[in-house]
Amino acid sequence: MSCLICAGQAESVECSSGWEERSCSHCGCYRMSQALILQMMEEGQIFDSSKMRAWLTRQRSLVAVPSIEFSHAILMR
Ligand SMILES: [Zn+2]
Repeated sequence: MSCLICAGQAESVECSSGWEERSCSHCGCYRMSQALILQMMEEGQIFDSSKMRAWLTRQRSLVAVPSIEFSHAILMR
């Protein structure tokens, strides 16, 4: 499995339907909505991985495993 943010080596974690959970050695553990993944694939978008990691770090002070939806996605423009 590859990381959805940085495309590095990541482990897939079992989670609820409609979500993908990954544990990446660079980005940490996060959950991403499948709708977001599909939309990004359709539009050929990729994440700004350094900004997404900073966002994840901030989220981890609130929740153990941050959930990324479209409104949270920080994309390369
Ligand atoms: Zn990663």
